[in-house]
Amino acid sequence: MKKITWLLPLVVSTMYVSAQKKNDRKILSNLQLHVSYLSSDKLEGRRSGAPGEQLAAAYIATQMQQLGLTPKGDNDFLQPFLIRESREPAASCSFTLNQVPLTLGSQYIPLPFSAAGSAKGEVLPHVNEPDNIWLVNIAELDIDNKKSMLEEYLKQTQIAEKSGATGVIFYNGKESAATVLQWLDHNLPPTGIPAVWADQAISKKLDDEEASSFQINIQLAFNQVKRTGTNVVGYLDNKAPKTVVIGAHYDHLGFGEETHAATKTLHPGANDNASGIAAMLEIARFLKSARLQHNNYIFVAFSGNEQGLFGSKYFTSRQNLDLSTINYMINMDMIGRLDNAKGLQIGGIGTSPGWPGILTAVTDKATHLVYDSSGVGPSDHTSFYRKNIPVLYFFTGNHSDSRQTGDSADTINYEGTLSIVKLICDIVSKTNNQEKLVFSSTREPQVTARK
Ligand SMILES: [Zn+2]
Repeated sequence: MKKITWLLPLVVSTMYVSAQKKNDRKILSNLQLHVSYLSSDKLEGRRSGAPGEQLAAAYIATQMQQLGLTPKGDNDFLQPFLIRESREPAASCSFTLNQVPLTLGSQYIPLPFSAAGSAKGEVLPHVNEPDNIWLVNIAELDIDNKKSMLEEYLKQTQIAEKSGATGVIFYNGKESAATVLQWLDHNLPPTGIPAVWADQAISKKLDDEEASSFQINIQLAFNQVKRTGTNVVGYLDNKAPKTVVIGAHYDHLGFGEETHAATKTLHPGANDNASGIAAMLEIARFLKSARLQHNNYIFVAFSGNEQGLFGSKYFTSRQNLDLSTINYMINMDMIGRLDNAKGLQIGGIGTSPGWPGILTAVTDKATHLVYDSSGVGPSDHTSFYRKNIPVLYFFTGNHSDSRQTGDSADTINYEGTLSIVKLICDIVSKTNNQEKLVFSSTREPQVTARK
């Protein structure tokens, strides 16, 4: 009997350790499942508004439902929002130079303020006359350095239009086709005449001193394109007076369209930011069973991050969200490459005088943490900080695969991600019996690289 009494604590503690290990293994396998699916080829890099983003949103919504969260979007778990409206050249555009058709998007690009419609003429080099198409050599212009090149093109088009030009072709510009394609994101009101940018090879032809005249025929049409993104929002309602928001963005770069890269290659985005979404889902699973009932919890998977934090800006500006009840927000963006030598970066600890004490209580000296006081950074916590909400931002650092095609599921440090999941669960647990965190404003660093 004595022997058994002596053995009992050992048996209980061994049972506890093995239950913990089993639980860890379960979380690890879930993290792997989430990251593998979200970064798979099928999801095509999860670009906001693209079919792959919708598949990812459906996956996250299903996971939230299976976890027993309450839908908190506008359409069940989904919260669609407008990213931008842009005028994009239609495929029916054409431009022939001496009867030779040119290629839209590379050899020529309609400028964002161009009129739709056509212009036709026989144009003499260096002769710009009324009722004809003008050829404008950008290299010969006196450029106002205070203006952007796009503003300069607009100014020159307005001058040409006033002088009776029927269309204008700009050549010898220093910018690349990729830059001009990015200008199309500006939804500018159209001028009265077609305006087109020509690439280096076409510029060379137009610059030809030997040419007698150019037969030019331009026909331009535009589509008004609406880009939408979709946040996924789930709720754990504990009937508490205050709410914790736990979020991560799930959108990524698709085939590199945002950077208008010449070669379209799939950007899987395993670390950026399937890792953050996987962690968010596992934290939700923990909180669903943990009975930490002095806070409610909102879990948000943001979209539109890569275009400029559109999803979190939309979420925090919604009228149906009472910001005064939000205790704090935790954001995870790229937490899948934990390297103990570099440490885990935690941003936002200056956003509440309560954070340092909480973090000291739940971390030990063996964990290499790199703190940043600022509430502002290149990710979605910034949108909450801007609404005077305390934030914490978790990030395992940039690496050579960041925002590149090599950011794949097999490069993720799942044990490291598990340790971050546990740390965040400890932080949330610690705040269960505490008052609502007090907000404090912080320094504003210059943001240089997006994550
Ligand atoms: Zn990111």
